[in-house]
Amino acid sequence: MNSKHFAVIGHPIGHTLSPVIHKMLFELSGTNADYIALDIAPDELPARFEDTLSKLDGFNVTIPHKSAIIPLLDKTCGRAERCGSVNTVKIGEENVGHTTDADGFLKAIEYAGVKLGGNVLILGAGGAARTIAYEVAANGCHLTLAVREADRDCANELAADIICDFDSADVNVCGLDEIEGEFALMVNATPVGMSPNVGISPVGIDVVKKCSAVFDAIYNPRETELLRLAKTVGVKVIGGIDMLVWQAAQAQTIWLGVEFDPSDIEKISEKMSEA
Ligand code: NAP
Repeated sequence: MNSKHFAVIGHPIGHTLSPVIHKMLFELSGTNADYIALDIAPDELPARFEDTLSKLDGFNVTIPHKSAIIPLLDKTCGRAERCGSVNTVKIGEENVGHTTDADGFLKAIEYAGVKLGGNVLILGAGGAARTIAYEVAANGCHLTLAVREADRDCANELAADIICDFDSADVNVCGLDEIEGEFALMVNATPVGMSPNVGISPVGIDVVKKCSAVFDAIYNPRETELLRLAKTVGVKVIGGIDMLVWQAAQAQTIWLGVEFDPSDIEKISEKMSEA
């Protein structure tokens, strides 16, 4: 079989884990393929799409190109269309944009034994928060978006978009210091606690204690201060690396039609956690 060629694009892209994860997945499925990281500055994107990206078999997209790539494609589908965000492109007769972030999140919590339901708290209102908030609303949960003061408008806009798409959605917005109630799941979708600013948590132990499970989208470090706090009070924890590996696996399903066994994904997550 001819070798297939894939890449991840972003700016900056130096610390991406995607090449390592994708190479492990190719090995698992016996796919003859390579995968490289390409640093592409925003103003270079159209020219690089023409001369390089459109000649690959597919590529992943990260910050700051998730929306900017859309006008260069023939179409977007499913959640990518709804969220206006693409993380996976399949090159073919038509160049099609998808997003696998939501599937990554859903699989990560499912295989950790957490069912989406009841009260869900999301910290932040950026890209990851938007993707996850839509899944939470689609599953009929009561959603609280907690943000810092400067992000109130952004959070209110996200709440309005969700209510527009899901008539019966139950969403409220509060400040990070105004969180009240008990939650089946808390999701950290802020960068608070991410390397190099480790050792800080977006919320205190008082909030953590009121949650049955905590998912932190951050994967560097593997155990954030938030997850460390949650463990000390016996709350179930799920790290961002599981979402990252699952969304990569879903990208390969789109490109190559291959499916992965949950136990294989778990092994890759464990290997990445040791790295
Ligand atoms: P983003 O679009 O920049 O959104 C981050 C959100 O957090 C924004 O609402 C931002 O507000 C807010 N925020 C930033 N600094 C804050 C602070 N000090 N206190 C409180 N809120 C703050 O970023 P993103 O793409 O959603 O990513 C968020 C995190 O998720 C990152 O750590 C990223 O690595 C991780 N992530 C993980 C995966 C995975 O597969 N595991 C996938 C996607 C993202 P402003 O807009 O005002 O800055």
